[in-house]
Amino acid sequence: MLYIVPTPIGNLEDMTLRAIRVLKEVSVVLAEDTRTSKRLLDHYDIKTPLRSFHAHNEHAMVERVVDELASGADMALVSDAGTPGISDPGFLLSRACLRRGVKVECLPGATAFVPALVASGLPCDTFHFEGFLPHKKGRQTRLKYLAALPHTFVLYESPFRLLKCLEELKAHCGEERQACVARELSKKFEEVKTASLPELIDHFSKKEVKGEIVLVVSGS
Ligand code: SAM
Repeated sequence: MLYIVPTPIGNLEDMTLRAIRVLKEVSVVLAEDTRTSKRLLDHYDIKTPLRSFHAHNEHAMVERVVDELASGADMALVSDAGTPGISDPGFLLSRACLRRGVKVECLPGATAFVPALVASGLPCDTFHFEGFLPHKKGRQTRLKYLAALPHTFVLYESPFRLLKCLEELKAHCGEERQACVARELSKKFEEVKTASLPELIDHFSKKEVKGEIVLVVSGS
């Protein structure tokens, strides 16, 4: 069995009781960054050995890991924060497991886009999750596609590119479009601000933008 285990996106209280139990019971925890996950495991007194499984070795590791799982090992996959597979490694491994008849179970838990979407006050009955936009090639094509969507869409963005991204969204979606910047969710300096794109640009131009950011944009 492969367990996909969400971990907190900031607040350590967001670890579920089941996630702690599963991480204690499996034989190996596959981790995006073993140093980051070691701190989490130490916090919960989890002694399970960690093994590196990240975007750069994912392709090479998948078959070996699936071989071990197919011969009876139970393992868990974690990423640095939130749910593995959501803008993080995980998809290749779960697909390979299912193809080999290995059971995959994803525990419900922390992820950044759900609290951002729900707290934004923008319609969340139907939505599109985009994750990170490409930095250069294909970025404008993607923005054009997103701007035409009839429903809310969700982006992950770095604080250094927030203003540039808001300007680009304004160019593609127009001045009236409502959007939300959800920053540092579940952490001490959490900020969720919903306004028109020009108002958001004005607000975030006045200070240095820090922390992790989810952008939610209403549909056309
Ligand atoms: N797997 C994660 C999830 O389930 O949300 C996402 C991992 S992705 C590499 C990291 C991005 O998620 C950040 O750049 C930011 O856009 C978003 N993010 C992560 N933690 C966040 C937080 N506490 N507040 C706002 N956004 C966050």
